[in-house]
Amino acid sequence: MRSTTVAVIGAGWAGCAAAVELTRAGADVTVYEAARTAGGRARRIAYQGQSLDNGQHILLGAYRESLRLMQHVGLNPAQLLMRIPLHMRYPHGEDGMSMLAPRLPAPLHLLFGVLRAKGLTLADKLSLARFSSAARWMGWQLNIDCTVTELLARFDQTDRLTKLLWRPLCIAALNTPPERASAKVFLAVLRDSLGAHRAASDMLLPRTDLSALFPDAALAWLQTKGGKVMMGNRVNTIHAQDGGWTVSSEQRSDHFQHVVIATAATHAQSLLGGIDDALANQLNFDYEAITTCCLQYAATVRLPAPMLALIDEPELQRWGQFVFDRGQLNTAQAGLLAVVISASGMATEHAVKTQEVAGLVSTAAQQTQETPAQSLEVAVAQQLAHDLHMPELATPVWSKAITEKRATFACVPDLQRPANATTHSGCWLAGDYTESDYPATIEGAVRSGVKAAAGILGKTTSF
Ligand SMILES: Cc1cc2nc3c(=O)[nH]c(=O)nc-3n(C[C@H](O)[C@H](O)[C@H](O)COP(=O)(O)OP(=O)(O)OC[C@H]3O[C@@H](n4cnc5c(N)ncnc54)[C@H](O)[C@@H]3O)c2cc1C
Repeated sequence: MRSTTVAVIGAGWAGCAAAVELTRAGADVTVYEAARTAGGRARRIAYQGQSLDNGQHILLGAYRESLRLMQHVGLNPAQLLMRIPLHMRYPHGEDGMSMLAPRLPAPLHLLFGVLRAKGLTLADKLSLARFSSAARWMGWQLNIDCTVTELLARFDQTDRLTKLLWRPLCIAALNTPPERASAKVFLAVLRDSLGAHRAASDMLLPRTDLSALFPDAALAWLQTKGGKVMMGNRVNTIHAQDGGWTVSSEQRSDHFQHVVIATAATHAQSLLGGIDDALANQLNFDYEAITTCCLQYAATVRLPAPMLALIDEPELQRWGQFVFDRGQLNTAQAGLLAVVISASGMATEHAVKTQEVAGLVSTAAQQTQETPAQSLEVAVAQQLAHDLHMPELATPVWSKAITEKRATFACVPDLQRPANATTHSGCWLAGDYTESDYPATIEGAVRSGVKAAAGILGKTTSF
């Protein structure tokens, strides 16, 4: 019997997940990817002879489908990811806090984490305990969505706790500031971290580059099973024909029974234009940027932990929110620090403005020709030197700020996200933006790919 033919457009995490699931079930899969490197918004980039990422990522123990598929294509997540208990640890000083969820069964890990947290007052600890017991009682769900700021006000959270815990957590998880972020989605993330069993709440830090963490292995596995992978092959059009879909790139035109559009929403919009303008319009999201500043120091430079939280104060041009010591994750990257600035629109705009002003008034700035990215790198290096009490961090050997302008959709209340199935028989959507209680994450993308595959195979999923 001939197997079902499927074109998967896009080899990001969603496309790779869909392709693996379909191949597992015996479908004949062809993957088209516009870029030369797989992974999409979670991929490797080469810089200064190193494999960097387009942005530092964190996974959670709750990323069940991502971990399952990594194993399925022959990877060992325990080797590729450093597993650390959920924590929020600031470097030094009276301004910070340190909270670590110990290795105890839920909810004791959280309870003990809160009780033993350093830098929180009794009022902060009581307010955190009140929030988590109320949220647990509500089943981590809200009937009517609101912003995270409104949710925190409803549970009377202290200013200090909001500054040191809720705001950074919300920005890190939803890439949207609490005053604009969806409380419903935030609660879903907390359910799978603070509210989950201990292993699910663990943070998983990649030891390898993001393409090697799944997409490369997924495509290699697919090819051993007879699947086809077309890298550097951008699909320009799809159209319904003879009960299936013709998929055309500059290089070729092929016919399939099903097509999975596993691109980012903006690219899905162009492919759907003329086929389903209403659906294409529904994919008109607002976006938030993420900047990762990579700073290389001498190989002997080492932070007190692989990951530390930083206090960001945009009004003082202190932009960094988290710093990762890549050398503690991968010895080949000794001395490399990655500083994350989520929802970084303001930071990058400020850098551009500063540079424009400097360009007008300062001949020194004109002579040095500092770009906006470089002025951001300088500000981040100074913040690190100050916060970590390590003056040598002010002068990296090299630095590189990588900004993904459309890193994720802005995760605002009541956002309408499309289903995987479209009204066009055989045409499916997969990607982090499709219907889900997850924000735009690796796990959201993978689950979406698995769901699209299940739809084609006539199966259902439990998520
Ligand atoms: C800087 C940054 C930091 C992040 N941090 C985290 C984090 O810590 N934890 C977390 O879980 N998530 C994080 N995310 C979110 C996560 O990376 C994304 O949600 C996820 O990678 C989206 O995957 P996707 O497969 O849905 O889409 P994409 O990654 O956008 O993949 C789409 C693919 O389709 C290809 N494509 C597009 N058009 C065409 C075409 N016409 N033909 C062929 N191919 C095409 C693209 O080249 C791309 O490879 C972060 C994202 C960024 C940018």
